[in-house]
Amino acid sequence: MAPAFRFRADLASLPVYVPGQRPPAGMAAYKLSSNENPYPPSAAVISAVVDAAADLNRYPDMAAGGLVAALADMLALDPERIAVGNGSVAVLETVLRAACVPGDEVVYPWRSFEAYPIAIQVAGATGVPVPLAEGGRHDLPAMAAAITDRTRAVLVCSPNNPTGTVVSEEEMRSFLAAVPREVLVVIDEAYVDFVTDDDAGDGLALAAEFKNVLLLRTFSKAYGLAGLRVGYAIARPRLVRGLRATATPFGVNALGQVAAQAALREADDVAARCARIVTERERVLASLREAGWQVPRTEANFYWLDLGRRSLTFAREAATSGALVRAFDGDGVRVSIGEREGNDAVLELVTRWQQTPAALPTA
Ligand SMILES: *Cc1c(COP(=O)(O)O)cnc(C)c1O
Repeated sequence: MAPAFRFRADLASLPVYVPGQRPPAGMAAYKLSSNENPYPPSAAVISAVVDAAADLNRYPDMAAGGLVAALADMLALDPERIAVGNGSVAVLETVLRAACVPGDEVVYPWRSFEAYPIAIQVAGATGVPVPLAEGGRHDLPAMAAAITDRTRAVLVCSPNNPTGTVVSEEEMRSFLAAVPREVLVVIDEAYVDFVTDDDAGDGLALAAEFKNVLLLRTFSKAYGLAGLRVGYAIARPRLVRGLRATATPFGVNALGQVAAQAALREADDVAARCARIVTERERVLASLREAGWQVPRTEANFYWLDLGRRSLTFAREAATSGALVRAFDGDGVRVSIGEREGNDAVLELVTRWQQTPAALPTA
């Protein structure tokens, strides 16, 4: 008898995407495990979604023309430079599928966003992880050195999930000068709205200047629409046409399209909420330092605790104190900035734990 159908053999070796813990049914907890916005959508966003629900028997606008136009307007860009998708992770998957054939390599920083190695492998490419440098920062010289004639793309995550560090303008420019023009540089800016460091790389300017730069952005974090799955890429028109041609048809659903447009209409509110999160971040960072902890300089809505082998135990204790955090076994714990009380619950726990000398940055 012929063996039963199976999917690709290599799927058995796919890394598993572990979503942030959710509170058990009926239990209240601060969810600081997925870098979500702690603020619910505004009344205007909710009413746009409710109104659009009346037409759910219809397919959405496949080109998401209204949303693309609104983004183009906000960013002062030609709409031909924007491609939207079902969350920026789906846009990244489309980029990698469109860029790579089996045997191609994709260089990426590690530790970074856990979706990267999965998306690279599913696209049929070979991932080339490059360890982060001191302080949880990208090691861009090592990433440039990892490029071979098989490399099709390099992923840069700034701010980096889960360490929160940014790549500076200077670092980004020397890196781009070292990368061959035929290699795509994907800069994932999921947390760009929380960046306050003036030295951080200006992705939009770099994407305008370098033809091989593609930016990824999302409505999931600063815009607080993680549940609706809307993300986009900014790149030169030729690449955007390729993305539109290869993306899942109707990838951005009708509710996501109207919600994102409504959120774009209240940019001031979005910025005000980001500013509150950034203020909280700075307060939490100062308390951590006061308690003797060295944490990487975060420019995002989360911070990284270098807890090594104690990571899972810490996350369990945090859950007992009512705060869900994201532990990476054997490595560290990522804590999102959320409501003040939730941040304080984690801080209270952190100050009772000591940073082990072994976990301190060497050098
Ligand atoms: C959260 C996150 C995203 C956003 O993904 P969506 O699919 O748009 O929700 C993208 N990149 C990184 C690094 C993230 O942490």
